[in-house]
Amino acid sequence: MAVQQRRTSKTRKAKRRTHYKLTAPTMVKCPSCGEYKLSHRVCPNCGSK
Ligand SMILES: [Zn+2]
Repeated sequence: MAVQQRRTSKTRKAKRRTHYKLTAPTMVKCPSCGEYKLSHRVCPNCGSK
């Protein structure tokens, strides 16, 4: 196994993590009960597709 030769600097770590991003899940209103749910998922409120 390779052994780390030097510690990753704060800057280098931050630059690598610029690609990390949180994306909010797409919420749609359930056509049956009107609750917000994830699209293409079963509604947690009423169980409809
Ligand atoms: Zn529903």
